[in-house]
Amino acid sequence: MKYAIIIPDGCADEPQETLGGKTPLEAARLPAMDEIARSGLVGRSNNVPAHLPAGSDVANMSLLGYDPDANFTGRAPLEAAAQGIELAEDDWAIRCNLVTVEDQIMRDFTAGHISTDEARQLLAAAQEQLGNDRLQFFTGVSYRNLLLYQGAGAPAPFSRDTRTTPPHDLTDKSVADDYPRGPGSDLLNELMERSSAVFGGHAVNEARRAGGKLPATNIWLWGLGKAPRLDAFTSRYGKTGKMITAVDLLRGLARLVGWDVIEVPGATGYLDTDYAAKGRAAIDALATTDVICVHIEAPDEASHEGNVAEKIRALEAIDEHIVAPLYAALRAQGPYRILVSPDHPTPIRTKTHSHGFVPFAIAGSDIPVDSSQSYDEPTATRSKHNYPEGWRLMDEFIRGNFSEPR
Ligand SMILES: [Zn+2]
Repeated sequence: MKYAIIIPDGCADEPQETLGGKTPLEAARLPAMDEIARSGLVGRSNNVPAHLPAGSDVANMSLLGYDPDANFTGRAPLEAAAQGIELAEDDWAIRCNLVTVEDQIMRDFTAGHISTDEARQLLAAAQEQLGNDRLQFFTGVSYRNLLLYQGAGAPAPFSRDTRTTPPHDLTDKSVADDYPRGPGSDLLNELMERSSAVFGGHAVNEARRAGGKLPATNIWLWGLGKAPRLDAFTSRYGKTGKMITAVDLLRGLARLVGWDVIEVPGATGYLDTDYAAKGRAAIDALATTDVICVHIEAPDEASHEGNVAEKIRALEAIDEHIVAPLYAALRAQGPYRILVSPDHPTPIRTKTHSHGFVPFAIAGSDIPVDSSQSYDEPTATRSKHNYPEGWRLMDEFIRGNFSEPR
């Protein structure tokens, strides 16, 4: 049995006035996804528990079959895993943005999309002046960097009650009320404060100011956590898996459940991604894995930009270049099951991730056929296949247990 999972990130949405009351999934031309719906079943699932943030980190953990309530520890540990940084028992990973804060206003959570080379120089200065045996800065890509707190046998000052705010939620707003709070926040606030002195006169910032670019005024620390201890997918489900994605969170999740990550040249995590290359890589991978998972960030990006036409274009490209060829290859090779599901909704209206149900479609050589005619939100809402705890869907997908709808 071969399994394919396609994740069009954030594709679930609301009816659009500009689309005559249809959702993007309803309005887009999606012959392959609709064929899966007609040949199998459509249902709905909720991947984000109400008290956790509606992000791709929580939602994709659930979609892969892991209860985020029990397992989610924060965004930074997943990004550390993506970079191959191993966290010991007492270690905490902390997301370390380079940001531009002026007069207590978050001017830019990316410090003007600062280059990775500039980030490396600034973080080297931070390491020299703020770092010690316990604190280590890691350069990532551009403004997206990490700080590692190494406990080395002693418990860290942080806990699950330490509260931080993602800087992208503060754009053009005052940061005054959104500094870290709770256990260990003194240390985080001290590092953020002292980083402005380290960066203030740094040559990188002087050059940026001279070039009319935004300086990186300081670090912004958030999303901290210990490494989640996820059971290996193979021991939980008895199947091997591989992931195709251009996004670090998904790379990290895949590594933490013991999957290989396939890097596809031309996969960008943006609207210009090479869809066909991802489709070909997925088909190639069927020979060497039980489960192939393809994640596509583009629909989510289109929603963040509030661009409904781009969202439809992304969905149609996913359908034509990934779902259709992969579905055909699966049918040609023997027993199979295929699942299409986003992680969370990203409504065009709000331009950001939201809590709530997403539609999924499943077909396969042994999957019962219900009356679904298309893959979209209204069809899912009418379905008997209803998963308020979305992480339970994976178990039934792997076991093919859909004869008694819930
Ligand atoms: Zn997402």
